[in-house]
This record gives sequence, C-alpha cells and structure tokens, in this order.
Amino acid sequence: MSDLILKVESLRAFYGQTQALYDVSLEVEREGITALLGANGAGKTTTLRAICGLVRTEGTIRYDGADISRLGTANIVRRGVAHVPDGRGTFAELTVEENLKLGAYTVTDRAAGARELDRVMTYFPVLRERYRQQAGTLSGGEQQMLAIGRALMLRPKLMVLDEPSFGLAPLIVAEIFRIMRRINEEERVSILLVEQNARLALDLADRAYLLETGSLVISGAAEELKQDEGVQRAYLGY
Ligand code: ATP
Repeated sequence: MSDLILKVESLRAFYGQTQALYDVSLEVEREGITALLGANGAGKTTTLRAICGLVRTEGTIRYDGADISRLGTANIVRRGVAHVPDGRGTFAELTVEENLKLGAYTVTDRAAGARELDRVMTYFPVLRERYRQQAGTLSGGEQQMLAIGRALMLRPKLMVLDEPSFGLAPLIVAEIFRIMRRINEEERVSILLVEQNARLALDLADRAYLLETGSLVISGAAEELKQDEGVQRAYLGY
C-alpha cells in the first residue's frame, strides 16, 4: 500500500448556498507530485481552499494520518501545509525579506530563521539580489518565486500551489517548474499542483486528476493521462 500524505474523500464545498465541489476524492503520495487539472471555474482553486480550511466543506480530508477537515487554517498551516494561492498572495508594500520572514512565523528562534532564509534563497538566488526591494516592484516571475519561497519558509510537508504558471513567459515558467522539482526531491516536500497548463503539469506530476464543473472526470498516472484522447483533445491541443 502506498504511503499517502493527503487523502480527500467525498469532498463537497460550498459558497453560501452554491455548491462548488461534488464528491471529489483525491490522493497525494508522500513525497509525490499530484496535478489537478481543469478549465476555468472547474473548482481547482476551491479544492485547494477546502484543503486549507478556507471554505465550508463536507467530507473528509486526511492529512498525514489525521482528519483536518474541521480544523482552522492556522492549525492546518502549523501542521505543515503551505498554500501558494492564485494571485500569489505576497504583500506588495513589504520587502522580499519581510515577505519571507512572514512565511516563517512558526519559527521563533532567530538563528533558525536565518538558516531558513538562507536555505530558501539557495533555490531562488534572485531573491537574494532583490532582498530589500518591495515585492510590488518585482517582475511576475520573481513574485511567483517569492510566493513559493515564502511557503518554503514554513518547512512544509505538503505544498499546494495554485497555477504557478499564470501570466508568466514560457522560459520563466520552465525555470519555476524545475525549481519545484528540486524542492520536491531535495526538501522531500509533497506537492499538489493546480494548473491550466496541462502539458507542463503532466510532465512534472506522477499522478493527475481532471476536474469538470466541480466533479472529477478522470484520474490516473500522469503518463496515462497524457495518452488519454479526451485529455489530449481538450487540454493538450492535439
Ligand atoms: P480558475 O482556473 O478560473 O481559477 P477554478 O477551477 O480554480 O477556476 P474555482 O475558482 O474553484 O475554479 O471556482 C469553482 C466555482 O465556484 C465557480 O463556479 C465559481 O464561480 C464558484 N466560486 C468561486 N469562488 C466563489 C465565491 N467566493 N463565491 C461564490 N462562488 C464562488
């Protein structure tokens, strides 16, 4: 039996009276990379928000052996789930340094904090160069790197990322995806990745799910999904 860091079962999510997810069940293997694909409005962002305790849900969300579906977001973060939200969520008025230090709010020891900063900047050398610069003045790619770096400051076991490729040039996206692979391998962080760019996501992930209007329609090994005719037609442009 494989070792799962995350097991979501029959997840339903609601915005007021509106239901956005219908019985979504998905798994992320420990130290694995799972991709969640789908068109605009399919429910990808909602799935990540649900895992992080940011929307009202029914169903179970087991993370690292415990049901976290009734826990508050702060508690979920403290257990090692780091969310890189859509729109990146960095604070434009704060510097790179301040944004990164906010990510480490669970680290109270100063020396440990400094070590974390150093560790994160080995993945993103450009953040070292921009250390005292306001986040709002960074390029889109640098802001995405800052958002991932800030999440890494938590020393997460699971990182959930919402469309890290959004609005970025292909070369920058390729670089960010290479860094995500390194983070997965070297930090042994499990990853759940939401993407509209199916080709990139299927290259990075070992497992993938496809969401349509709030329900899962296909799941399997990433290699299998690449061969699926429906996926090819709708998402890979064949
Ligand atoms: P995108 O790629 O465009 O971000 P998505 O797959 O992430 O799309 P969600 O943002 O999860 O999709 O949206 C799923 C559904 O929930 C949509 O029908 C959307 O209109 C609805 N929804 C999302 N956020 C809210 C909200 N705050 N209030 C009400 N409905 C919402």
